[in-house]
Amino acid sequence: MSGLTLQNVTKQFGTFTAVRNVQLTVPHGTFVCLLGPSGCGKTTLMRMVAGLDLPTSGEIRLDGADITHVPTHKRDLGMVFQSLALFPHLTVGENIAYSLRIRGVGKEEQKKRVDELLSMIHLTGYADRPVAKLSGGQRQRVAIARALAISPKLFLLDEPLSALDAKLREAMQVELRQLQQRLGITTIVVTHDQREAMTMADTVVVMNGGEIRQAAPPVEIYRRPADTFVADFIGMTNLIDFSADASGASVLGSPVAGLALPAGLSSGILSVRPEDVRLTAPGNGAITGKVTFIRDLGGTIETFVEAGGKQIVAVSMPNARPEVAIGQEVGIGLDPADCVVLKS
Ligand code: ATP
Repeated sequence: MSGLTLQNVTKQFGTFTAVRNVQLTVPHGTFVCLLGPSGCGKTTLMRMVAGLDLPTSGEIRLDGADITHVPTHKRDLGMVFQSLALFPHLTVGENIAYSLRIRGVGKEEQKKRVDELLSMIHLTGYADRPVAKLSGGQRQRVAIARALAISPKLFLLDEPLSALDAKLREAMQVELRQLQQRLGITTIVVTHDQREAMTMADTVVVMNGGEIRQAAPPVEIYRRPADTFVADFIGMTNLIDFSADASGASVLGSPVAGLALPAGLSSGILSVRPEDVRLTAPGNGAITGKVTFIRDLGGTIETFVEAGGKQIVAVSMPNARPEVAIGQEVGIGLDPADCVVLKS
């Protein structure tokens, strides 16, 4: 199997389990983002892939070979961490060529490779600049080029863009993804920023409490979250209790027809994205609520409705602005196809 495979990987620090029984396959040439709240174990997992930490149990394989105990420098990795650690007294070219030089690559070959990499990161002609004179974004690109100089099998980045301001960060996310696609290099990025993960990844791996909660393409993570943690962590959602019996499901006191429920499930939680909540005239058997707040953000309008003691948010675009006012009674329309049924 070509690519990276983690089998039952666990890491304990004393009695504390930072990573629990992780199973993950990263096929060759794909881009994976490890995403989750602070302390969920993303960095620990990445450090084990990098060989900076040893798993307490489990196995790590790269292109079929067991690398669990192989030291970092023999794993054929390119790494970029949050603290870029470029050599400040060296030029851009010397930084990029560093790992080639220590591997004994000839001067000519070094120059050729540096020029190639500079062109790739859109910094052609910058070889002789001191890194101290670069902008934050340019430094980031040099760090990426330096990590890629040896054409690694695996490219690992831990919060690589977190020091950049929001605009530059978004631009770099697109650049990094395009670069990865051009090179076809197997890449793993640690981030706590869901937008960043959704922008770049083929597969988003959502972690919490040391465990993988879901590993799936970005749209699937958003549209079909596996549990309430993922539903709530990724974007905005409405988590609404429901109960069910032989006659069907009841949500906030009103029947909702057509929900596909797993056999034997008598209660649970529906995850409904705000853009899937339709506000209608009250009546017609729909869930009824009262508008409590309207947040007009220009590009989108969020309407807050209280129904059955629960706050439901509906999001609409300006061209479909709901004709409602605070205090007004409204109906809440839920399409069963948009509702994800989760266990409570
Ligand atoms: P962040 O986004 O804040 O960097 P993270 O998801 O990367 O968080 P980790 O750094 O992997 O989280 O840490 C996971 C858990 O393991 C945390 O509770 C942390 O305190 C603990 N931990 C990490 N390294 C060690 C260590 N060397 N010794 C003891 N506990 C550790």
